Amino acid sequence: MGEMDAQYHVGLVLLSIAVAVLSSYISLEIAARLNNLKGKSRLTWLAMGSLSLGGGIWSMHFVAMLAYDMGMNVTYEPVLLTISILFSIVSSGIAFYLIKKSGSRLTQIASSILIGTGIVLMHYVGMEAMQMQAVIQYDMWIVALSVVIAMVASFVALNLFRTSSTAKNRKRWITLSSLVMGAAISGMHYTGMASATFIHDSSVKMPQDDLTSQVGPTVLGFLVAIGILMIIGFTIVLLRYKAKIEDSDHRLEVIDRMYHSIIQSANDAIITSDHKGVILSWNEAAGKIFGYTSTEMIGKPLHTIVPHDFRQAHIDGMERYNQTNQKKVIGQTVELTGLNKSGKEFPIELSLSTTQDGENSYFTGIIRNITERVESQKRIKELVYRDELTNLPNRRMLKEHLTSYIEQAKLDGHMIAVLFLDLDRFKQINDVYGHSIGDVLLKEIAVRIQRCLSTKDLLARQSGDEFVVVLPQTSHYQAGYVARQIINNISTPVVIDDLELYTSTSIGISLYPEDGETASTLLKHADTAMYEAKKEGGNQYYYFTNEINEIISRKMVLETGLRKALEREELEVYYQPQVEVKTDKIVGFEALIRWNHPELGTVSPADFIPLAEETNLIIPMGEWILRESCREFKEWLKVKPDLKHVSVNISALQFRQPNFPEIVADILAETELMPQNLELELTETIVQDPKRAIPIMKQLKAMGVKLSLDDFGTGYSSFSYLKDFPLDTLKIDKSFTKEIHLSAKDKAVVETIVHMAKRLGLNVIAEGIETTDQLASILESNCNEFQGYLCSPPLPYTQITDKFITPKIFEPTSKV
Ligand code: C2E
Ligand code: MG
Ligand code: MG
Repeated sequence: MGEMDAQYHVGLVLLSIAVAVLSSYISLEIAARLNNLKGKSRLTWLAMGSLSLGGGIWSMHFVAMLAYDMGMNVTYEPVLLTISILFSIVSSGIAFYLIKKSGSRLTQIASSILIGTGIVLMHYVGMEAMQMQAVIQYDMWIVALSVVIAMVASFVALNLFRTSSTAKNRKRWITLSSLVMGAAISGMHYTGMASATFIHDSSVKMPQDDLTSQVGPTVLGFLVAIGILMIIGFTIVLLRYKAKIEDSDHRLEVIDRMYHSIIQSANDAIITSDHKGVILSWNEAAGKIFGYTSTEMIGKPLHTIVPHDFRQAHIDGMERYNQTNQKKVIGQTVELTGLNKSGKEFPIELSLSTTQDGENSYFTGIIRNITERVESQKRIKELVYRDELTNLPNRRMLKEHLTSYIEQAKLDGHMIAVLFLDLDRFKQINDVYGHSIGDVLLKEIAVRIQRCLSTKDLLARQSGDEFVVVLPQTSHYQAGYVARQIINNISTPVVIDDLELYTSTSIGISLYPEDGETASTLLKHADTAMYEAKKEGGNQYYYFTNEINEIISRKMVLETGLRKALEREELEVYYQPQVEVKTDKIVGFEALIRWNHPELGTVSPADFIPLAEETNLIIPMGEWILRESCREFKEWLKVKPDLKHVSVNISALQFRQPNFPEIVADILAETELMPQNLELELTETIVQDPKRAIPIMKQLKAMGVKLSLDDFGTGYSSFSYLKDFPLDTLKIDKSFTKEIHLSAKDKAVVETIVHMAKRLGLNVIAEGIETTDQLASILESNCNEFQGYLCSPPLPYTQITDKFITPKIFEPTSKV
């Protein structure tokens, strides 16, 4: 018996240390991954880690044993060998499980003890498995030291490893931990070996040479090689996995950066908060919109940007969601009011979403400042509902409001008044002073009307110079009172640019419910009443009445019918004889138009000529009358060639046509009537514009056509300019002849007119002679001719022909 000399094979020693370090590295890398894994794959990696570390410790041990040459045959007992493997693998497995389960100091210590114990047990069981002709004696102090080395080095290694999870340079820390762990395994081993003394003992029996009782160096070499291959295999798997993980880590990082840049560069504010409404993130747009920087806002309550009035509701809403998970605003886009740093409130649009993490919810709000949009909507609304010049409600808004007032009045029984205003002579002001002055005047008028109203009343601009006032709660008397106030206010002159402008207004009033029950009827009836007020001189107000309505309705019937009257041949020329006073001889006829209306019967020209003038229909109508009169008179001339002329009334509008003389010439040519057989009756309105009228009159005269001045004395005709007009005849209006036989004054007027006319070389004809007394008077007044019912009322062509033209009737009598 004696102590044995043993030698280490240096290469194998280094290889054993390399195996220890490499397996530690792999197992720690695996441990680092374990945290991110769950379920089956976590178990797989846990197994791989345990196998790697356990296998590594074990391989290290036996590579080191192979490196220990004792100069004798050594085999190993298989059962103990297996137990040693199991020790190292199971202890590694438990350590792995613990180390990643939670990172507390206690588990770290437990893990270190486990790994250390695993290494120690593995080592000494492995030693026990040795079968050789020697016994082992241990120095217990060194054994204890080996145990301490295993534990302390494991603890340090795990500590380093723990640091790696938060360290910047993770790889370096893992490498360092692997080196320390490798050192723990190797250090323990070689210290353990140093504690053992092999004493040769030839009495020890070597077991039989079969695998169940001994494992020889060759098999052990295989086992070790398998252990190392396993570690290499895990290395390959791990590297692949790592590459994949790093790739996806990188992708996640890129995506993260992308999201970050999207959020930062977004035009909308993107704000996240936790379930309590504490702001977690705040992008640049949020800064621009609300005026706070992210440093100012992160950690602050979300309600900082909610106006004070809405804060409680906001807090309650959040609370409700946290408790019930009921989504009201979440997932939707809503318009709200925001509050910026300077305390200004403004409209925002908010889209809110949540993310749930376990118990807690996180909110993400995307907020847009919609001030511009809201303002342009307001502007559009204004354009739709307001008049641009006066900023008063326009016709559309008026109608909507009036309708709602009516709805209300139906419930509470109030009376509503609609006052329809139209300025008198506004067109003239516009024409004379220009539209800009007209606009200023309209604005001033709007202000003046407004002054007469109370806050509940409505003033709207209907169009041009038309305004409408609605008094939603009023009486018959009150409406008239307001109308009077308005008329008075408007009649004081308006001074614009040193100009004193006088205007007045006509007002029509309709009342709800008596004059109509809808907005459009009330407006229409107020307009009708206004029209009557204007017709009767303006600067006054009229209430709507049924009589007014009838007049207007008749007017409307006439207006619509008149357009078709010509086409439908409803017009007919009547004729009234003109008689020479002294001889009773018919010298000519006046053409007077009649309208045979299909429903209203014969309509007087006094009713429809002004309408025809308003609608310009007088132009084609007048031309037709002229042609018709010339044609029919030509027929009479054929029978009665001594007739002087047919007199045709000409409207001022017709006369103003630039080609009027040509039209007359064409008709004369067409009907083959001599110009001297045609007399045109002009009205006083024509001669009021002598500059324009005289050249045309001269042109007509030059053609040979005769001219007479109708209704002399009723208008503004002055004797002074009579001399300038190339007239042939003066027609004295029937208002002078009506009482000529009774009134010396009237007779004197007629005598004067006749006297003057004769001095001017004009023929004089008296109109409206109905009685022989009247005839006697005008005879005394020296009047040449007369027209009137005394001879004949205006009659249709055939009746005139029968009565006055054909030889059978033609007898020297005109007195009916
Ligand atoms: P005017 O040209 O002064 O015509 C005379 C009016 O006196 C006619 O009325 C005629 O019927 C009426 N009259 C004739 N004799 C008497 C009488 O003894 N007593 C009374 N009280 N009245 C008499 P009428 O036909 O209703 O025409 C009214 C006016 O309409 C005409 O007044 C004329 O200004 C206009 N008018 C008639 N026909 C035409 C026309 O073809 N063209 C144009 N532009 N105006 C016409
Ligand atoms: Mg006439
Ligand atoms: Mg007349």
